[in-house]
Amino acid sequence: MQDILDKIAEEMALRTDRGKVADYIPQLASIDPDQFGMAIVLPDGRQFSAGCADKAFSIQSISKVFTLTIALGKIGDAIWSRVGREPSGDPFNSIVQLEHEAGKPRNPFINAGAIAVVDAIMMGHKPKETLAEILQFVRFVANDESIFFDSRVAQSELLHRDRNASLAHFMASFGRIKHPVENVLGAYFHQCAIAMSCTQLANAGLFLVSDGMNMNTGVRVVSPQRARRINSLMLMCGHYDGSGEFAYRVGLPGKSGVGGGILAIAPGKASIAVWSPGLDDIGNSKLGTEALELLVQHTGWSIFGH
Ligand code: GLN
Repeated sequence: MQDILDKIAEEMALRTDRGKVADYIPQLASIDPDQFGMAIVLPDGRQFSAGCADKAFSIQSISKVFTLTIALGKIGDAIWSRVGREPSGDPFNSIVQLEHEAGKPRNPFINAGAIAVVDAIMMGHKPKETLAEILQFVRFVANDESIFFDSRVAQSELLHRDRNASLAHFMASFGRIKHPVENVLGAYFHQCAIAMSCTQLANAGLFLVSDGMNMNTGVRVVSPQRARRINSLMLMCGHYDGSGEFAYRVGLPGKSGVGGGILAIAPGKASIAVWSPGLDDIGNSKLGTEALELLVQHTGWSIFGH
């Protein structure tokens, strides 16, 4: 495993076309695109890593997997009256489908869907308590108390909120957002601003590898049925309008973020996190995808076989 990872990291270091870093906030625009890190955690807890796998980066939309898990824990299937479960085929921050579909986002992983999910989590809570709950859950699944919100990123997201604010207000106009839009956006921007390393992220994904149970800590996070369903949503929707391409090239449930991270789950085999800040045209990590493509070629871990 370590040999495979080292080979992939070596190969990635040679790549000259590394994509473009996100530039909608200065904190992401100023990140050095030459970085690459990857971590693999096996069900028994054995860990392998390469490159800067211990450097914290902005997980951005990868947080949507954790907030969906929290929401399902709180309200169960009632979440599906607020968001759908279909791929959108549109960019992550698109507003077009919302009008046609009466303000109901296609899935929990596009921005509109994640905003609706965090609104559901806020039920019965003060905004600050929601932030604490999200961070506490991520620390719990990662088994790591040192994970934090990067408050400068959260602040910057707030300053450049026009698009996400539009999505939230548009949904609110259909009566689909129950809390004050500013509070919901505050929670959404904080979840996006969670900073984690590949190692921490791979650990956080471990419960999705073994039917909802973190075999390393012995703690059950969700039921087997729920883990299977979250994985299927990641496969179909985790890379936005690039989800088909990711399934074709990698063949694993995965969730990307504009910070350049990807969390990928090989059910029964491993939790994998990769980070390289340069993005492709759709906003998914360019080298991250290429590294995962190499990994499945070496391991045969694609859910669709060799
Ligand atoms: N913070 C980003 C946004 O809201 C998250 C999007 C992403 O990671 N794809 O636009």
